[in-house]
Amino acid sequence: MSKDNDFAHENIAVIGAGIIGLSSALWLQKAGYKVTIIDRQSPGEGASFGNAGVMANFSCLPFTRFKMLPKIPKLLANASSPLSISKHYIPEMLPYGWHYMKSCFRYKHSRQALTNLQSKAFESDQVLLNMTSGQSLIHKGGCLALFASQESIEKAKTGDMLERQNLGVNLSFVDHHQVKELEPALQPFYAGGVYYPDTRFTVSPIQLSRCYAKYFVENGGKIIKDQVNRVKCENNGVSVQTTTETHYFDRLVIAAGSASKKLIDQLGCKLPLVSERGYHIMIRSDNPTCLTRPVAWLDKSVFLSPIEESMRLAGMAEFAHIDAPATKLRIDNLKAQAKEMLGDDIEYSSEWFGSRPATPDTIPIIGHLPSNDKVTLAFGHGHIGLTLSAVTGRLVSELVQGVTACVDPTPFSPKRFL
Ligand SMILES: Cc1cc2nc3c(=O)[nH]c(=O)nc-3n(C[C@H](O)[C@H](O)[C@H](O)COP(=O)(O)OP(=O)(O)OC[C@H]3O[C@@H](n4cnc5c(N)ncnc54)[C@H](O)[C@@H]3O)c2cc1C
Repeated sequence: MSKDNDFAHENIAVIGAGIIGLSSALWLQKAGYKVTIIDRQSPGEGASFGNAGVMANFSCLPFTRFKMLPKIPKLLANASSPLSISKHYIPEMLPYGWHYMKSCFRYKHSRQALTNLQSKAFESDQVLLNMTSGQSLIHKGGCLALFASQESIEKAKTGDMLERQNLGVNLSFVDHHQVKELEPALQPFYAGGVYYPDTRFTVSPIQLSRCYAKYFVENGGKIIKDQVNRVKCENNGVSVQTTTETHYFDRLVIAAGSASKKLIDQLGCKLPLVSERGYHIMIRSDNPTCLTRPVAWLDKSVFLSPIEESMRLAGMAEFAHIDAPATKLRIDNLKAQAKEMLGDDIEYSSEWFGSRPATPDTIPIIGHLPSNDKVTLAFGHGHIGLTLSAVTGRLVSELVQGVTACVDPTPFSPKRFL
């Protein structure tokens, strides 16, 4: 750790101990800053707790594109589809919807930005995993993305998958027999699909967060468990008011996931960040290691992953208030899909839901607050926050230091929505 930098005396607060806040804190600490994380929960207990664990290196196509538009009404009308919008959340969705439409015109631009970020994700991960001894939580072995019908496979061959291949993603098409050989425990719900051989996954998203937090604290970082009620720019820095006291820092990083919106509103910055809730169920089976890699069922937009010596089926895109009660129908849908994927002989051990921070163009917001470069924003990673966590933290640190960034940060700036 370089402690001889000019800014080594600077105190930085990071709000949020999710995977994005933790990664940002580690990179800042590595650069020599004195870092304090503030979170109302223990590290990794937000959206970062419940994800499917996939380090989705193949994910470089934003969802925001014209060809999605005609599909949306059909998806919303179908109660068993993964997509839903709570009627109580419609007012919050209006600015998002407006920017979604505008973002469709910038699809290629967003795709390039995401591809650039992905190109540095692996090497950035390696730095944090090696530094924190987290490698044992990461497994190789690729990942499968399956379709129920041959028709969908043929469509993918000339559509999304071809687009991914053209962007340099390593993938191959696999037929029914090849899938059966790779994952014999699966029921034959699939016609075949795609194999991504380079994809890695974590067998425990929560342990990964805890591993990062442990290293952070052992190396001088401080974690305050408290709710942040107010943030304010001061003459020489920022103040952060929690339920118990007001803290003063030289700089602030806001990495509070979906709840970041409430905080940046206080700083006069209105961004169309929304809460896209996802669900998971944990599945016990007689043979917990029967699944060797994550398997997506693309028609249903779910991932079945080997996690915590068990299996996790995760998915759903429910636009709703962060704190609204869970919708039982989503869990019922996941349970029905689990049976189709694994057969009737399964038991469920727990259910979970959480909120993904979602931006209209499905690329994250990483950059300084336009009105004050003492505040840096890092949220809005939607479906790929785990995947992009390390590279986001690195970019945050580079922006704070004012050094050349590993990736052009311009497309991630909050200014694109202002
Ligand atoms: C079902 C599901 C499956 C997913 N699968 C994958 C996957 O396979 N691969 C992938 O890459 N990504 C996946 N994701 C996405 C990924 O989990 C998220 O993008 C990522 O966890 C976001 O991390 P974060 O740190 O921004 O937010 P969070 O993990 O939500 O962390 C934000 C933290 O901020 C704290 N906070 C908020 N407001 C305050 C406040 N006022 N005061 C104090 N603390 C506050 C919260 O307590 C929380 O701990 C999935 C998400 C879901 C829901």
